[in-house]
Amino acid sequence: MQFEQFDFHPAIATAIEKCGYKEPTAIQQQAIPHLLGGHDLLGLAQTGTGKTAAFVLPTLQRLLDGPRKKVRALILTPTRELAEQIHENIGEMARGTGLRSCTIYGGVSKFGQIKKLESGMEIVVACPGRLLDHLNGRSIDLSDIEILILDEADQMFDKGFLPDIRRILKQVPQKRQSMVFSATMPGAIRHLVENILSNQVTVQV
Ligand code: AMP
Repeated sequence: MQFEQFDFHPAIATAIEKCGYKEPTAIQQQAIPHLLGGHDLLGLAQTGTGKTAAFVLPTLQRLLDGPRKKVRALILTPTRELAEQIHENIGEMARGTGLRSCTIYGGVSKFGQIKKLESGMEIVVACPGRLLDHLNGRSIDLSDIEILILDEADQMFDKGFLPDIRRILKQVPQKRQSMVFSATMPGAIRHLVENILSNQVTVQV
């Protein structure tokens, strides 16, 4: 299978080429068609499988249509390191699309994050605690979210983020496309998945 088969927007296709990706990985082959079709998805995959591009590329494709400078995609991660990594990946894959992402996590000043948000971001990659801070301070508005992604859901659970995630979910529109990625599927995550996803397709690599 080739990336051409997904029929990505030319700007995205060029970015994929510049990343040096020759062909889609297994998770990308399985997940991308469903995501482009607008389905919810549960992805059982570890880091290193290419899962980031699997959720970022269809997200960019969707965001190319519709308004700019509104936060339309939210990616939740358990650690700052993962948030930075995803943000950097988005930077490479969104090159030439004009779509922008920023990171939100604790341990750094809120001011810089607020400035970034005010400049108009389409994608926010956030850790739950600091995102809640911004929601409480009304420095972020999630009412335009069309795509919600939970990455490393099992790590979220291990770190005790489930209550924060439930609070965040209350501020995200019901009508949206959702994705959950996790390496493992313990019972507690299964319940969360049922809350977040609807009529989801499950892919496993
Ligand atoms: P991830 O599992 O998302 O952390 O990705 C692991 C690594 O694989 C990252 O360095 C990506 O840049 C790289 N990668 C993702 N998709 C592809 C692909 N289709 N071909 C080659 N490398 C890829």
